[in-house]
Amino acid sequence: MESKLASTAVEYPARVPPRSIMRIHALTTGTVRLKHAFLYAKSGLRRQFDLFLPGPWSDPVPIHCWAIEHAGRLILADTGETAAVHDLPFARFDVTPEQELPGALAAAGLALADVETAVLTHMHGDHMDGGIHLRGTVLVHDRELMFSRTRGARIAQRLFRQPVPVGVDFRPVALDDGPFGAFAQSRPLSDDGRILAVASPGHTPGHISILCIDDEGRHVLLAGDATDTLEQLHARRPDAVAPKPAVSVATMEAILAHGREHPTVYLPSHDPESVARLDAGATL
Ligand SMILES: [Zn+2]
Repeated sequence: MESKLASTAVEYPARVPPRSIMRIHALTTGTVRLKHAFLYAKSGLRRQFDLFLPGPWSDPVPIHCWAIEHAGRLILADTGETAAVHDLPFARFDVTPEQELPGALAAAGLALADVETAVLTHMHGDHMDGGIHLRGTVLVHDRELMFSRTRGARIAQRLFRQPVPVGVDFRPVALDDGPFGAFAQSRPLSDDGRILAVASPGHTPGHISILCIDDEGRHVLLAGDATDTLEQLHARRPDAVAPKPAVSVATMEAILAHGREHPTVYLPSHDPESVARLDAGATL
């Protein structure tokens, strides 16, 4: 009896404690309907011209942002949209005040006050407007922040009534840590390197994705608007707003190449299938 107890006492502390667990939560800050001319953009001049013509619309698709619980920290990837959003010629938004970031976090059992860091994939309203709820800094790729302040970007912000929200403390970060997998530039966002920003330009010039290495070693790519769907990724089809479509396509090739090297869960912000893929751990 005594020896049995002793052996139990030896074995129990020898169990390896679970390593730092990561939980990724999909938050949904309302929905948006997108014109087919945006989702299935043609090439050439009609790629952007058709955005302004009457045409069919998609069903409502989610406006996701993501909360990552890891190593005692709560990190946001994007901040979602707010009810104050204005429609675009190619996007009709449906966001209630209750669906904004605080409510979306609460729906996931999380609290706004626990957010330690927020990082944006890019500076479009449906990714950054929720930043108005945050007291702390919001990290933005320096290239994206610079682009948002160019004359052309400012004109577009005024024309489409999509202002950069005031009172948000946007802080530039450089992607100065070299390549990561198939991505040309990266920067770690956690001490253990399991959360990183990786360059995924195209949709906007400084667009980044947030790559999380989950507890099973999969790479979970919070891909912003690199594409709107998995289908668009496989089709290598640039959207209608990317300034340089070839840059978008190069990013899609990089994501697909990365997926061939590492099991990668691909989660664009507006893909109705993203949550199912996250839950299933379904890889490219
Ligand atoms: Zn966007």
